[in-house]
Amino acid sequence: MSPEFTPEREIDAARHGEDAGEAALRPQTLADFTGQKASRENLSIFIAAARKRGDALDHVLLHGPPGLGKTTLAQIVARELGVGFRATSGPVIQRAGDLAAILTNLQPRDVLFIDEIHRLQPAIEEILYPAMEDFQLDLIIGEGPAARSVRIDLAPFTLVAATTRAGLLATPLRDRFGIPLRLVFYTPEELCSIVARGADKLGFDLSPGGAMEIARRARGTPRIAGRLLRRVRDFASMSAQEGPVGAELADAALNRLEVDALGLDGMDRRYLRRIAEYHHGGPVGVETLAAALAESRDTLEDVIEPYLIQEGLVLRTSRGRVLGERGWRHLGLEPPPRDQG
Ligand code: ATP
Repeated sequence: MSPEFTPEREIDAARHGEDAGEAALRPQTLADFTGQKASRENLSIFIAAARKRGDALDHVLLHGPPGLGKTTLAQIVARELGVGFRATSGPVIQRAGDLAAILTNLQPRDVLFIDEIHRLQPAIEEILYPAMEDFQLDLIIGEGPAARSVRIDLAPFTLVAATTRAGLLATPLRDRFGIPLRLVFYTPEELCSIVARGADKLGFDLSPGGAMEIARRARGTPRIAGRLLRRVRDFASMSAQEGPVGAELADAALNRLEVDALGLDGMDRRYLRRIAEYHHGGPVGVETLAAALAESRDTLEDVIEPYLIQEGLVLRTSRGRVLGERGWRHLGLEPPPRDQG
């Protein structure tokens, strides 16, 4: 364990990062992919139709909170189409030439995955438009009066783009995706089957009760479920208990990681407490909260808030964030009486 270990940091890493254990748990086919029923069924039809016609699949936009399987689905799309897969991300593409190099190297019908597409620079976005629409690249070579424009034909390809913020995409870019899919938080039952399958792959003897305990506390997110599963396995391997690991041991391990009964971690609780204790339940602006919690606004909006909002712990209003009744109760506090005015 590193000297910097804190449960909060650990769970936070579970929301952002990937480690070796995670790659091993990735489903490889659409049939293996649990949850996201609507998106999965639609994709399977569009993939079959594209294969039948021998065409590139239309461009796909995957949007939703981190860790719900956007990268995994993109890889699966390429595998099911039987084509190559290239991956990059919005902030990595700094110059027009970077994107041109990637696009001109694609084979016919390949999948190009661009993660965090909302962080693409506007000038580069504009190169993408004709590439997506007509499979053509318009490049300006040289500068000043000597500058000239050249047009390069590209192989037909499928852009699969992922974003946590579809709202930040420019309309012309958003409109060029023929297949927009919104990923939603997973149900505890779906996560339970992901955890059970993951335990199997890891050779970890986990009872159905143990799997459900982890699933209920994974914030609706497979990436967090996978990480908690591996941490519970660590605790279990250090305990003297024989036989399958059940709900009790899983509960004890998750408590030690400071993951509470709703699956919230230290950062979530700090966020809720801040609104309750410093702002009397709100409304409070997201910038104020970000500064007080020493987090970026993006992290609050992309990573922390979506689950709290879905669970009714926090409400997003035009005047700022407000603690919901459930949020007060979760902190063990009484909601203030409603305004009579
Ligand atoms: P980010 O946008 O933050 O990169 P993401 O949405 O792309 O996140 P992935 O990296 O695809 O998420 O998935 C995170 C982890 O969750 C992976 O280890 C993957 O194996 C697992 N996972 C995601 N979706 C599923 C699923 N439906 N079934 C099983 N495991 C899943």
